[in-house]
Parts: sequence; structure tokens; C-alpha cells
Amino acid sequence: MPVKDAQGRTLVTLIPGDGVGPECIEATRRIIEASGVQLSFDIQHAGESVFKKGIPSGVPQETIDSIRKTRLVLKGPLGTPVGYGEKSANVTLRKLFETYANIRPVRELPGVKTPYSGRNLDLVVVRENVEDLYAGIEHMQTPGVAQCLKLISAKGCEKIVRTAFEFARSEGRKSVACATKSNIMKMTEGLLKRTFERIAPEYPDIQSWHVIIDNAAHQLVKKPEQFDVIVTTNMNGDIISDLTSALVGGLGFAPSANLGNEVAIFEAVHGSAPKYAGKNCINPTAVLLSGVAMLRYINEFEAAQRIEQSVIYTLEQCAKEGVGTGDVVGYDKPNTLSTSAFADRIIKNLGHKSEKYKVRDYREIKLPKISDEPAFVKAKSTRVVGADIFVQANLQPAVLGPKIEALLEGSALKLKMISNRGTKVYPSAGAITDCVDQYRCRCILRDGAQKGATATLTDDQLLPVLAKFGASKELSWMHIEKLQEIDGSEGFTKAQGED
Ligand code: NAP
Repeated sequence: MPVKDAQGRTLVTLIPGDGVGPECIEATRRIIEASGVQLSFDIQHAGESVFKKGIPSGVPQETIDSIRKTRLVLKGPLGTPVGYGEKSANVTLRKLFETYANIRPVRELPGVKTPYSGRNLDLVVVRENVEDLYAGIEHMQTPGVAQCLKLISAKGCEKIVRTAFEFARSEGRKSVACATKSNIMKMTEGLLKRTFERIAPEYPDIQSWHVIIDNAAHQLVKKPEQFDVIVTTNMNGDIISDLTSALVGGLGFAPSANLGNEVAIFEAVHGSAPKYAGKNCINPTAVLLSGVAMLRYINEFEAAQRIEQSVIYTLEQCAKEGVGTGDVVGYDKPNTLSTSAFADRIIKNLGHKSEKYKVRDYREIKLPKISDEPAFVKAKSTRVVGADIFVQANLQPAVLGPKIEALLEGSALKLKMISNRGTKVYPSAGAITDCVDQYRCRCILRDGAQKGATATLTDDQLLPVLAKFGASKELSWMHIEKLQEIDGSEGFTKAQGED
């Protein structure tokens, strides 16, 4: 719920951001103020300017305090060092305030010519926003092997799937497609698919279907009209939402909302586009439409409608006159409109409506309220049937295998197989694998590892094994993963080639 000040104005934390951010935010702010909505902006900072002050998170305490108070953020894009350095302050903000749903709509707009013009594209990517590879848990396991953990929770899946269906209902949409890579990642991506299939029958008014994410990318380019709402995991959603924005004219037109049960953050899909920074030439529409989504979120439906109608009318008029922002007509052309000139037109056109392009009739979106309990799934039974012990060893598999077997002698565990980057290499089945120095040794209970047995591996049995591995001069262990059976099903996948 919006927080208001004594004058009845809704409080908003405004983060101008980096690169082109301040220009887009300034244009948006002017247009929102011209629409007559009463907002009280608290200007705060995050991103590059904050990294420069030596705050490694990129999000200072004042910004956190402001958001805790306002619970509502309108932000420009934030720059993140690519391939090195600090973590993304965008992702930090999304995760700090558990904004688990990232809603990224795109629709065809008048005057914005694309190869798809005339096909009336109008679809939305609902991207899980806080889990997956974006948990950002990365390690160098050996000097030459990096690892990133892909964490997906049942609770996170339930929240995003329910949000996608509720969102579809709030916009009167007809179908939700769940796009996953569950053919390969059966536990993580598969969890989203299974959750989707369990929940979909609760929404009989909405058609539901599953599509493998790579085919979704293919279908989106070939026949995008078949999609209405797409729900997907964080990484997939990040990529396909850039793709969908390109279908309607590019990142200059792609808004987004990061929604959580406590806080909502509105921002464009695009980044800080540094090459255009400070040139007053960037298209502010994506940030502006994010602001429009924010107005709907705080129930300012009328002002949101007026601004959206003015954007559409302005684009129609620009097309008639043959003018537009640089991304539409080309930069540095005589008919190029600057960011501020384009914003001025939208302000002037407030109150005008397109005759052809309709604005959707929006209703409030009901975000799912899901238990705050950390233990969201309670298993009836779990038992540990073994452990994957990851070792660093500069040995070939045929040499390493017997050494691991010797280390396990006399223990509760036996070696089932060794894999290298997911492919079984010991005992060899004759595959040709280019091995690196990080191996997974799958060790299972000598007695009772089979399905349905009841024995469980105890720490008293496991720790001496690790100590033996640790004492070895030819290898070192850097990571272990217990192999669990949960309610009678294996809670781990096989290596490629493992029987
Ligand atoms: P980007 O900033 O999104 O820019 C990529 C390209 O998209 C631009 O060169 C431009 O294409 C086009 N573009 C972006 N915004 C536009 C707009 N408003 N109007 C018209 N065209 C627009 O992506 P990037 O260059 O990969 O990333 C730059 C920085 O932004 C990085 O530090 C990245 O981490 C960060 N980033 C932040 C966010 C966020 O804050 N949410 C999101 C993504 C990236 P043309 O070159 O074809 O003109």
C-alpha cells in the first residue's frame, strides 16, 4: 500500500541512476508531475556514484532507509562493472527488498517500425527476480574452474507462478506459458515446471502450456503472437525479455516492474547505455512507461491512462510528422527529437487519445501471500545415501579412480563413479572427455544406498572420509554435497553416462 505524507502525497524513492538514467528520470518526473498526480520524491543514489565512494554494495544505508519508509521506488538504470568488480546494485536492490516478480510487458506502438509492425504484438514476460543464477553464489573451485550455484526454491516457484496467473487475470489475458530448461536441469528448472502444472488448474479461465526456453526464443522470433504471458526463471527471463523488447522497437520502449509483497521498484529493462549519457538523445519511453506502471500500482489509474494515451498519441503524431527519438529515426538526423523535446510533446499532448490504439483496462494485481515460514516444504522422510565429494586433482581419471577407492577402503562409503564437468569418466565407458582438474567423486553407502532401503549416512561416517581425502598429497577436496533421498525419491541427478 502506498505511504503518504501529511499533504496526502504518495512517497516515492527516486533514484536517478547512471549513464542515461538521470535524463530518462527527469523526463519521466516532469511528465508525471504535469499529469497532476501528487507525489513526494525522495532523491537517493545507488550504483556507480556509490561504488566510487567506496561502498562495495552500491546501495548506501540512506537509500535502504528511504525505501524502507516509502516502499516504492522509481529508478534509472545502474551501471555494473562487466566481468569483474562489484556486484550489480540493481540485483542487490531487488534482492534486499524481495521483489520476486519482474513484470516486463511489450506491445506494438504506433510509428515504431519493426519487421513485426502490423501484427499487434502485446505480450508480457513474468520473470522470477531473486533466485536462480542471480543468487550470485560463485566460487573458483580450482584456479581453472569456476562454479555458480543455480538455486531455485519451491516457495520462489509458487510465488512467481501465482503472480503470473494473477497478473494475467488483472489484465484480462488469455494464456500463460511456462518457459523452462527442465529437459536438462530437471531439479531446478523442473521445479518451476512442476509447480506451474500443479497450480495451473486453479486458473481454469486461463490457458496454460509449457515450452522449452530455447524453443520459446525461436517461437518468439517466428510467431510471437502465440504468446500472451510467459513465466520463467531469472536468467531465461532476463534474456528473452531483451528479445521481446526488440520485437516492438528495442529497449527504448521496454518498461518493467519489480514487485514484492512489501516493496515495488519500477525501472526500464534497459541499462545505463553509457555511450548516450549526457547527450539528451535517449528515448525516455521505457522509464516513463515504468512510471506509468508505478501509478497503476498506487491506484492512480486515471493519471496512468492519461500519460499512456499521450505517449501513444505523441508517437502517432511523430510518425505523421516524420520525427522521433534517435532509436526510431536515427541519431543526429535533422528530424531527430531530443529526450527533452520528446518529453515536452508528451506533456503538451496530455488529454489527447489515439483513435486506433486502445489502452488496456487494468485492474489491481493481487500478489500472492505465501507463508513466511522458511521451511516451506516439509518432507515426511529424508535420508542421506552418500556424498558427492568434489576434489582438485591433477591426475587422469584412470589414475584418480583407484586412489579414491583406496581412500574409501574400510569406510561406510564406496565409489560409484567419478565425473568431470558432469560427464562420467570413471569407471570409463570409453567416452572421450577433455578433463580439467576438478572432479566429482560420487560416494554411496556400501550397504543400503538402494532405493527403499532405510540406512542413512551419518556425519560420524562421513567426516573421517573427508579427513582421509584431506590428508592425501595428490588431491584436495573443496566442496561436498550430501546425496539425499527425499520422500523416497532421489534428490540428485545422474552424471551424463551414469547408470
Ligand atoms: P544497455 O545499457 O541496455 O544498452 C544496450 C543498447 O540498447 C544501447 O547501446 C542502445 O542500443 C539500446 N538502448 C538502451 N537503452 C535505450 C534507450 N532508452 N533508448 C534507445 N536505445 C536504448 O546495455 P549494456 O550496454 O549492455 O549495459 C550498460 C550498463 O547498464 C552495464 O553496466 C549493465 O550492467 C547495466 N545494466 C543495468 C540495468 C538496470 O539498471 N536495470 C539493466 C541492464 C544493464 P544501440 O547501441 O543499438 O543504439
